[in-house]
Amino acid sequence: MYRIGIDLGGTNIKAGVVKNGKILAKSSIKTGKNRPYGAVIKDMAEQARSLAEAAGIAPEEVESVGVGCPGAVTGKTGTVAYANNLGWRDVPLGPVLSSLMGVPVKVSNDANVAALGEALYGAGKDYRDMIMLTLGTGVGGGIIIDKRLVEGNESKGGELGHVVIRTGGRLCTCGRRGCLEAYASASALISETVKIRRKTPDSALWKIAKSVGEVNGETAFAAEKLGDTAAKKVVDEYVYYLAEGLMNFCNIFRPQAIVLGGGVSAEGRNLTDRLVALMKAGNYGYAGTPAVEVLTATLGNDAGILGAASL
Ligand SMILES: [Zn+2]
Repeated sequence: MYRIGIDLGGTNIKAGVVKNGKILAKSSIKTGKNRPYGAVIKDMAEQARSLAEAAGIAPEEVESVGVGCPGAVTGKTGTVAYANNLGWRDVPLGPVLSSLMGVPVKVSNDANVAALGEALYGAGKDYRDMIMLTLGTGVGGGIIIDKRLVEGNESKGGELGHVVIRTGGRLCTCGRRGCLEAYASASALISETVKIRRKTPDSALWKIAKSVGEVNGETAFAAEKLGDTAAKKVVDEYVYYLAEGLMNFCNIFRPQAIVLGGGVSAEGRNLTDRLVALMKAGNYGYAGTPAVEVLTATLGNDAGILGAASL
Protein backbone atom coordinates (compact mmCIF):
# COMPACT_ATOMS: atom_id res chain seq x y z
CA MET A 1 0.00 0.00 0.00
CA TYR A 2 1.53 3.31 -1.09
CA ARG A 3 0.52 6.68 0.22
CA ILE A 4 1.68 10.13 -0.74
CA GLY A 5 2.43 12.72 1.90
CA ILE A 6 2.62 16.40 0.98
CA ASP A 7 3.96 19.18 3.17
CA LEU A 8 2.55 22.37 1.70
CA GLY A 9 4.42 25.46 2.86
CA GLY A 10 4.43 29.14 1.93
CA THR A 11 7.76 28.72 0.10
CA ASN A 12 8.11 25.04 -0.82
CA ILE A 13 5.91 22.04 -1.43
CA LYS A 14 7.65 18.87 -0.23
CA ALA A 15 6.17 15.53 -1.13
CA GLY A 16 7.06 11.88 -0.77
CA VAL A 17 5.83 8.41 -1.65
CA VAL A 18 5.53 6.44 1.57
CA LYS A 19 5.22 2.77 2.32
CA ASN A 20 5.23 1.39 5.87
CA GLY A 21 6.73 4.56 7.27
CA LYS A 22 9.55 4.70 4.72
CA ILE A 23 9.92 7.45 2.13
CA LEU A 24 10.65 5.79 -1.21
CA ALA A 25 10.98 8.97 -3.26
CA LYS A 26 10.64 12.64 -2.44
CA SER A 27 10.85 16.01 -4.10
CA SER A 28 10.48 19.71 -3.38
CA ILE A 29 9.01 22.35 -5.67
CA LYS A 30 8.41 26.07 -5.21
CA THR A 31 4.97 27.11 -4.04
CA GLY A 32 5.14 30.42 -5.89
CA LYS A 33 3.82 33.62 -4.39
CA ASN A 34 0.38 35.04 -5.20
CA ARG A 35 -0.69 32.31 -7.59
CA PRO A 36 -4.32 31.21 -7.87
CA TYR A 37 -4.90 28.21 -5.61
CA GLY A 38 -5.96 26.09 -8.57
CA ALA A 39 -2.49 26.40 -10.10
CA VAL A 40 -0.80 25.41 -6.83
CA ILE A 41 -3.04 22.37 -6.37
CA LYS A 42 -2.47 21.33 -9.98
CA ASP A 43 1.28 21.45 -9.35
CA MET A 44 0.81 19.28 -6.26
CA ALA A 45 -1.06 16.66 -8.29
CA GLU A 46 1.65 16.76 -10.96
CA GLN A 47 4.37 16.44 -8.33
CA ALA A 48 2.59 13.44 -6.77
CA ARG A 49 2.24 11.75 -10.15
CA SER A 50 5.90 12.15 -11.09
CA LEU A 51 6.93 10.94 -7.63
CA ALA A 52 4.90 7.76 -8.08
CA GLU A 53 6.62 7.32 -11.42
CA ALA A 54 10.05 7.89 -9.85
CA ALA A 55 9.26 5.26 -7.22
CA GLY A 56 8.27 2.86 -9.99
CA ILE A 57 4.63 2.46 -8.97
CA ALA A 58 1.49 2.75 -11.07
CA PRO A 59 -0.94 5.59 -10.27
CA GLU A 60 -3.62 3.07 -9.22
CA GLU A 61 -1.27 1.68 -6.56
CA VAL A 62 -1.51 5.00 -4.68
CA GLU A 63 -4.08 4.45 -1.94
CA SER A 64 -4.41 7.97 -0.60
CA VAL A 65 -2.85 11.39 -0.36
CA GLY A 66 -2.38 13.40 2.83
CA VAL A 67 -1.53 17.08 3.03
CA GLY A 68 -0.16 19.17 5.87
CA CYS A 69 -1.01 22.82 5.38
CA PRO A 70 -0.31 25.96 7.41
CA GLY A 71 -3.22 27.84 8.94
CA ALA A 72 -6.70 26.69 9.90
CA VAL A 73 -7.89 23.55 8.18
CA THR A 74 -11.31 21.91 8.43
CA GLY A 75 -10.28 18.26 8.48
CA LYS A 76 -13.68 16.77 7.66
CA THR A 77 -14.05 18.65 4.38
CA GLY A 78 -10.37 19.15 3.58
CA THR A 79 -10.99 22.88 3.26
CA VAL A 80 -8.37 25.45 4.19
CA ALA A 81 -10.37 28.04 6.13
CA TYR A 82 -7.46 30.44 6.03
CA ALA A 83 -3.71 30.26 5.56
CA ASN A 84 -1.97 33.62 5.70
CA ASN A 85 1.32 32.27 4.27
CA LEU A 86 -0.51 31.17 1.15
CA GLY A 87 -3.03 34.01 1.02
CA TRP A 88 -5.79 31.38 1.05
CA ARG A 89 -9.29 31.69 2.40
CA ASP A 90 -11.92 28.91 2.15
CA VAL A 91 -9.92 26.92 -0.38
CA PRO A 92 -11.33 23.43 -1.12
CA LEU A 93 -7.84 21.88 -1.22
CA GLY A 94 -8.90 18.31 -0.38
CA PRO A 95 -11.80 18.03 -2.87
CA VAL A 96 -9.87 19.67 -5.75
CA LEU A 97 -6.74 17.55 -5.23
CA SER A 98 -8.85 14.43 -4.82
CA SER A 99 -10.66 15.02 -8.12
CA LEU A 100 -7.34 15.61 -9.89
CA MET A 101 -5.78 12.46 -8.45
CA GLY A 102 -8.76 10.14 -8.20
CA VAL A 103 -7.90 9.05 -4.65
CA PRO A 104 -9.08 10.14 -1.19
CA VAL A 105 -7.24 13.19 0.15
CA LYS A 106 -6.92 14.11 3.83
CA VAL A 107 -5.80 17.56 4.92
CA SER A 108 -4.64 18.72 8.33
CA ASN A 109 -2.71 21.56 9.91
CA ASP A 110 1.06 21.30 9.37
CA ALA A 111 1.93 21.24 13.08
CA ASN A 112 -0.55 18.40 13.65
CA VAL A 113 0.89 16.51 10.73
CA ALA A 114 4.48 16.90 11.99
CA ALA A 115 3.34 15.66 15.41
CA LEU A 116 1.76 12.59 13.85
CA GLY A 117 4.95 11.88 11.88
CA GLU A 118 7.15 12.12 14.98
CA ALA A 119 4.65 10.09 17.03
CA LEU A 120 4.58 7.20 14.58
CA TYR A 121 8.12 7.13 13.20
CA GLY A 122 10.30 9.66 15.03
CA ALA A 123 11.20 10.79 18.54
CA GLY A 124 7.78 9.80 19.88
CA LYS A 125 7.51 6.34 18.40
CA ASP A 126 7.92 4.55 21.74
CA TYR A 127 5.29 6.66 23.49
CA ARG A 128 1.52 6.33 23.43
CA ASP A 129 0.65 9.89 24.44
CA MET A 130 2.76 12.72 23.14
CA ILE A 131 2.64 16.47 22.74
CA MET A 132 4.67 18.15 20.05
CA LEU A 133 5.61 21.80 19.90
CA THR A 134 7.25 23.28 16.81
CA LEU A 135 9.39 26.26 17.80
CA GLY A 136 9.67 28.29 14.62
CA THR A 137 8.27 31.56 13.35
CA GLY A 138 5.31 30.69 15.56
CA VAL A 139 4.69 27.90 18.04
CA GLY A 140 2.75 25.04 16.47
CA GLY A 141 1.16 22.35 18.58
CA GLY A 142 0.10 18.76 18.03
CA ILE A 143 -1.66 16.46 20.48
CA ILE A 144 -1.33 12.68 20.18
CA ILE A 145 -3.38 10.52 22.53
CA ASP A 146 -3.28 6.74 22.15
CA LYS A 147 -1.23 7.22 18.98
CA ARG A 148 -4.03 9.23 17.39
CA LEU A 149 -4.10 12.88 16.47
CA VAL A 150 -6.52 14.89 18.61
CA GLU A 151 -7.69 17.88 16.60
CA GLY A 152 -10.84 19.04 18.37
CA ASN A 153 -14.05 20.30 16.82
CA GLU A 154 -13.68 21.04 13.10
CA SER A 155 -9.97 20.22 13.57
CA LYS A 156 -9.45 23.69 15.02
CA GLY A 157 -7.94 22.60 18.36
CA GLY A 158 -4.38 21.82 19.32
CA GLU A 159 -3.34 25.47 19.12
CA LEU A 160 -0.90 25.04 21.98
CA GLY A 161 1.08 28.12 21.03
CA HIS A 162 -1.89 30.28 21.96
CA VAL A 163 -2.30 29.35 25.60
CA VAL A 164 -1.63 32.41 27.72
CA ILE A 165 1.31 32.05 30.09
CA ARG A 166 1.42 35.69 31.14
CA THR A 167 -1.82 37.63 31.28
CA GLY A 168 -1.46 41.12 29.85
CA GLY A 169 1.94 40.14 28.45
CA ARG A 170 3.43 40.54 25.00
CA LEU A 171 1.05 40.99 22.10
CA CYS A 172 0.65 37.78 20.09
CA THR A 173 0.05 37.42 16.36
CA CYS A 174 -3.43 36.10 17.22
CA GLY A 175 -4.41 39.38 18.85
CA ARG A 176 -4.33 38.14 22.45
CA ARG A 177 -1.70 39.11 24.97
CA GLY A 178 0.74 36.78 26.73
CA CYS A 179 0.47 33.69 24.52
CA LEU A 180 3.24 31.08 24.71
CA GLU A 181 4.02 31.87 21.06
CA ALA A 182 4.95 35.45 21.97
CA TYR A 183 7.63 34.08 24.33
CA ALA A 184 8.74 30.70 23.01
CA SER A 185 8.80 31.09 19.23
CA ALA A 186 12.11 31.54 17.41
CA SER A 187 10.80 34.98 16.40
CA ALA A 188 10.37 35.94 20.07
CA LEU A 189 13.86 34.66 20.90
CA ILE A 190 15.34 36.65 18.01
CA SER A 191 13.56 39.85 18.95
CA GLU A 192 14.71 39.56 22.61
CA THR A 193 18.27 38.85 21.42
CA VAL A 194 18.22 41.95 19.21
CA LYS A 195 16.92 44.08 22.09
CA ILE A 196 19.57 43.02 24.61
CA ARG A 197 22.34 43.17 21.97
CA ARG A 198 21.47 46.82 21.37
CA LYS A 199 21.66 47.56 25.12
CA THR A 200 24.98 45.78 25.73
CA PRO A 201 27.62 46.98 23.26
CA ASP A 202 30.38 44.88 24.89
CA SER A 203 28.38 41.64 24.72
CA ALA A 204 29.65 38.56 22.86
CA LEU A 205 26.37 38.77 20.94
CA TRP A 206 28.15 41.26 18.68
CA LYS A 207 30.86 38.69 17.93
CA ILE A 208 28.33 36.03 16.97
CA ALA A 209 26.11 38.37 14.97
CA LYS A 210 27.96 41.27 13.35
CA SER A 211 24.73 42.90 12.19
CA VAL A 212 21.10 42.77 13.31
CA GLY A 213 20.33 40.78 10.17
CA GLU A 214 22.67 38.02 11.36
CA VAL A 215 20.80 37.47 14.62
CA ASN A 216 18.93 34.18 14.56
CA GLY A 217 17.53 31.64 17.00
CA GLU A 218 21.01 30.26 17.73
CA THR A 219 22.75 33.58 18.46
CA ALA A 220 21.91 33.87 22.15
CA PHE A 221 22.67 30.20 22.81
CA ALA A 222 26.04 30.55 21.07
CA ALA A 223 27.00 33.72 22.96
CA GLU A 224 25.94 32.15 26.23
CA LYS A 225 28.39 29.32 25.59
CA LEU A 226 31.14 31.98 25.48
CA GLY A 227 30.14 32.98 29.01
CA ASP A 228 28.20 36.09 27.99
CA THR A 229 25.86 37.20 30.77
CA ALA A 230 23.53 39.25 28.56
CA ALA A 231 22.98 36.23 26.31
CA LYS A 232 22.45 33.98 29.34
CA LYS A 233 19.70 36.31 30.52
CA VAL A 234 17.90 35.99 27.18
CA VAL A 235 18.25 32.21 27.08
CA ASP A 236 17.25 31.74 30.73
CA GLU A 237 14.11 33.81 30.17
CA TYR A 238 13.28 31.94 26.96
CA VAL A 239 13.66 28.55 28.68
CA TYR A 240 11.67 29.73 31.69
CA TYR A 241 8.64 30.73 29.62
CA LEU A 242 8.81 27.62 27.48
CA ALA A 243 8.89 25.49 30.64
CA GLU A 244 5.81 27.33 31.93
CA GLY A 245 3.98 26.30 28.77
CA LEU A 246 5.18 22.70 28.97
CA MET A 247 4.07 22.43 32.60
CA ASN A 248 0.58 23.50 31.55
CA PHE A 249 0.51 20.77 28.93
CA CYS A 250 1.78 18.22 31.47
CA ASN A 251 -0.99 19.19 33.85
CA ILE A 252 -3.67 18.89 31.18
CA PHE A 253 -2.50 15.84 29.24
CA ARG A 254 0.18 14.15 31.37
CA PRO A 255 1.77 12.81 28.20
CA GLN A 256 4.61 10.34 28.29
CA ALA A 257 6.72 12.62 26.14
CA ILE A 258 6.92 16.15 24.83
CA VAL A 259 8.75 16.46 21.52
CA LEU A 260 10.22 19.79 20.46
CA GLY A 261 10.72 20.54 16.79
CA GLY A 262 11.60 23.61 14.75
CA GLY A 263 14.86 25.53 14.52
CA VAL A 264 15.35 26.16 18.25
CA SER A 265 15.16 22.43 19.01
CA ALA A 266 18.59 22.06 17.36
CA GLU A 267 19.99 23.07 20.78
CA GLY A 268 19.22 19.51 21.90
CA ARG A 269 20.08 18.53 25.47
CA ASN A 270 21.25 22.05 26.33
CA LEU A 271 17.59 23.02 25.92
CA THR A 272 15.76 19.92 27.11
CA ASP A 273 17.85 19.35 30.27
CA ARG A 274 17.17 22.90 31.40
CA LEU A 275 13.47 22.53 30.69
CA VAL A 276 13.29 19.28 32.64
CA ALA A 277 15.07 20.88 35.62
CA LEU A 278 12.54 23.73 35.73
CA MET A 279 9.63 21.34 35.26
CA LYS A 280 10.83 19.10 38.10
CA ALA A 281 11.04 22.10 40.39
CA GLY A 282 7.74 23.63 39.42
CA ASN A 283 5.31 21.05 38.17
CA TYR A 284 2.27 20.31 40.25
CA GLY A 285 2.52 16.91 41.90
CA TYR A 286 5.60 16.10 39.92
CA ALA A 287 7.01 13.79 42.60
CA GLY A 288 3.88 11.70 42.63
CA THR A 289 3.23 11.64 38.88
CA PRO A 290 4.98 9.86 36.05
CA ALA A 291 7.88 11.83 34.62
CA VAL A 292 7.45 13.44 31.21
CA GLU A 293 10.33 12.96 28.80
CA VAL A 294 11.32 16.10 26.92
CA LEU A 295 12.90 15.19 23.59
CA THR A 296 13.84 16.85 20.34
CA ALA A 297 12.36 15.82 17.02
CA THR A 298 14.38 13.40 14.90
CA LEU A 299 12.72 13.43 11.48
CA GLY A 300 13.36 17.03 10.42
CA ASN A 301 11.48 17.90 7.24
CA ASP A 302 10.46 14.28 6.72
CA ALA A 303 8.03 14.52 9.68
CA GLY A 304 5.65 16.53 7.51
CA ILE A 305 5.75 14.02 4.65
CA LEU A 306 5.44 10.93 6.87
CA GLY A 307 2.72 12.49 9.03
CA ALA A 308 0.70 13.65 6.03
CA ALA A 309 0.93 10.20 4.43
CA SER A 310 -0.35 8.74 7.71
CA LEU A 311 -3.46 10.94 7.91
ZN1 LIG B 1 -1.72 33.89 20.44
